[in-house]
Amino acid sequence: MRAQKTALITGVTGQDGAYLTKLLLEKNYRVVGAMRRASTLNLPRLAALGVADDVELMTLDMQDFISITQLIKDVVPDEIYNLGGQSSVQASFKQPLYTAQTSGRGTMSLLEAMRIIAPEARLFEAASSEIFGQNPVGKIDESHDFHPRSPYGVAKLFAYWSVVNYREAYNLHASNGLMFNHESPLRGMEFVTRKITTTLAQIACGRQQQLMLGNLDNARDWGFAGDYVEAMWLMLQQEIADDYIVASGETHSVREFIILAAAAMGMQIEFEGEGLQARGIDIKTGRQLVSISQDFYRPSEPDPLVGDASKAHKQLDWRPKLDFEDLVTLMAEHDLVRAQSGQVWY
Ligand code: NAP
Repeated sequence: MRAQKTALITGVTGQDGAYLTKLLLEKNYRVVGAMRRASTLNLPRLAALGVADDVELMTLDMQDFISITQLIKDVVPDEIYNLGGQSSVQASFKQPLYTAQTSGRGTMSLLEAMRIIAPEARLFEAASSEIFGQNPVGKIDESHDFHPRSPYGVAKLFAYWSVVNYREAYNLHASNGLMFNHESPLRGMEFVTRKITTTLAQIACGRQQQLMLGNLDNARDWGFAGDYVEAMWLMLQQEIADDYIVASGETHSVREFIILAAAAMGMQIEFEGEGLQARGIDIKTGRQLVSISQDFYRPSEPDPLVGDASKAHKQLDWRPKLDFEDLVTLMAEHDLVRAQSGQVWY
């Protein structure tokens, strides 16, 4: 029988950390989850998927090279999945240096520790479509030019090149998953998709009046996190490390997301006006449910980004299972149930 493999996941308390933990436990891995030291345990996502008791938890801060080194020494991982760091584009405009420390330099620290202590291990880096930023035309594949439009994108580009460099210079098995946006009922509340589903659920239950947003015409390539962690694992099963776009291949606007999410909760929203004057009206009651605020616009935005995951389809045999409509419905129904039963958000 094959010996049990050990996986180390940084950022285990996040959305992807929870889905990946579940996937790897199902594959009979020993899963070690690294999380920031906190005075209270932050495990609701792992608990929601029923895996909080099956993961070994250890503390780690991506800013601290010593703790990264010590962790790799203690765990002796076969596979390392780097999901930890400041992950919000919006927050990166307020905390650019912290974002660079955790999501940029943190990756190089991990690679350096791996090079010294565990050069036989394999590493997955949660790279981001935000490193592309500008996209004059068409779908983005692995050869597309980089032009990040936020401190987050800049940090992620440093991390991306660190992975490529350590692979070329030291022959490490390190791969970048160039992931486009992926969501789920476990998505952080600060991200626009989850803000939409949690707020609409509160409105449906009569606890909130309006959803306030920024640019409704922002469009993204949105997929389901449960599908994307499958691609992470597949990358580390390849004989040769490489970089792959992970995307749905479709783009949809924030406006479309709202209309579908509302419909899944039994509300019909129609939009009138453009830009800051746009308003979302409940057709049945005539009430205004969505309004726009300049406060939620970003200083600079990427163009609408849509990914071409042909390489992952061909070489990894990876395909997403949930489409956009199913994803929005899943998130909306989940948050409506939580709102109706008065459960705490996570
Ligand atoms: P998430 O839910 O925000 O999770 C981020 C994780 O990083 C959390 O566990 C967080 O811990 C941890 N973290 C933050 N700062 C840290 C630090 N200084 N040291 C150690 N851990 C730290 O994000 P996600 O959606 O799961 O995304 C996972 C990874 O994929 C991230 O690197 C993200 O940038 C990248 N990515 C995500 C998407 C997407 O659409 N979801 C797309 C492309 C790339 P706390 O719980 O303590 O905050």
